Amino acid sequence: MFAPLVAWLRQQQITFSENAAIGPHLYFKIGGTVSLLVTCNAAAQLAAVMKKVIAGRLPYLVIGGGSNIAFFDGLTRVVVVLAQADSSGSAVPIRLLDDRSLTVESGVRNQQLLSWCAATGAGGLEFLSGIPGTIGGAAAVNAGAFGCSMADVLSGADIIDAQGKVRTVDSGHFGFAYRDSSFKFGSDVLLSLRLKFSPVDEGLISKKIRDNLEYRLAHHPSYRQASAGCFFKNPLLRGVKSSAGKIIEECGLKNMTVGGLSVAGEHGNFLLNHGNASFKDLQCLEKKIQSAVAARSGVVLEREVIYVAADGSKY
Ligand SMILES: Cc1cc2nc3c(=O)[nH]c(=O)nc-3n(C[C@H](O)[C@H](O)[C@H](O)COP(=O)(O)OP(=O)(O)OC[C@H]3O[C@@H](n4cnc5c(N)ncnc54)[C@H](O)[C@@H]3O)c2cc1C
Repeated sequence: MFAPLVAWLRQQQITFSENAAIGPHLYFKIGGTVSLLVTCNAAAQLAAVMKKVIAGRLPYLVIGGGSNIAFFDGLTRVVVVLAQADSSGSAVPIRLLDDRSLTVESGVRNQQLLSWCAATGAGGLEFLSGIPGTIGGAAAVNAGAFGCSMADVLSGADIIDAQGKVRTVDSGHFGFAYRDSSFKFGSDVLLSLRLKFSPVDEGLISKKIRDNLEYRLAHHPSYRQASAGCFFKNPLLRGVKSSAGKIIEECGLKNMTVGGLSVAGEHGNFLLNHGNASFKDLQCLEKKIQSAVAARSGVVLEREVIYVAADGSKY
């Protein structure tokens, strides 16, 4: 099924591997193998690959930094496209559109975008400081912190839809909600984004980026430990957003362990993979936490992290 695409990728000298282990590409390090793993380091290349994949009617899944996702343990029969901009080249895939908006390719890492913002005096995106992954992934999940999220700064995007058509859409197309957008479980692919910013002194932006990062380093488990960040969404209790981590801790579940996976001692909403956790371990720990929390506090916790099934569908 994948042979014509493989031949084309080879001819185009685009990086790919067949029957590739996906775990090493994910922050959580959980997942088996995928039929084909293709790396795209620019939006133009991503568009060309997606047109070929869609024309060939192949099942596909585009991921960015892989920091909010875990795959099934066996073989997932799908083309996984890693959209990660190449930061080694001299051409930076970020441009000013006017004095209050910029365009950025979806595969640019948040931290690369923030360095550019600090150098340019483009303020308002510092909430992304310390959130791993790409700006495309951040938009797809409406990532946020410190009271801001992508929904506050995104004005539009160039996408390739499930029919292989390149389209320009506005923010309404995203259907943003708390840690959610139509891209999180959908099949449209983000090529580039348009973001709003406020002109701010470069020094102030750098300070805010540093302060936000320091807060994270002080309150979250080490970035060296494999995780996907906050595992559950913060629930609304009587109309007030409450901390899922605090609820898990109050239920006495810190350090609860299944196989190679445990609830972090430093933060109840971080699940840590100690090196050999399987997808089965993850599903089992998720269920154990959900039922213990429901029994002890009556709160229903909803997963924030994305799972990928054997057929490549996200859920
Ligand atoms: C230590 C740590 C701390 C974290 N802190 C936070 C935090 O404070 N706030 C927060 O919101 N999250 C946090 N996260 C979770 C995660 O980093 C964010 O959700 C991040 O924005 C996901 O980006 P990504 O590129 O890694 O997306 P991925 O995990 O690669 O993908 C996530 C989703 O986006 C889709 N996607 C990715 N790229 C594209 C594209 N080009 N086109 C279409 N769809 C695409 C994927 O298909 C998938 O549905 C944290 C994670 C870790 C490990």
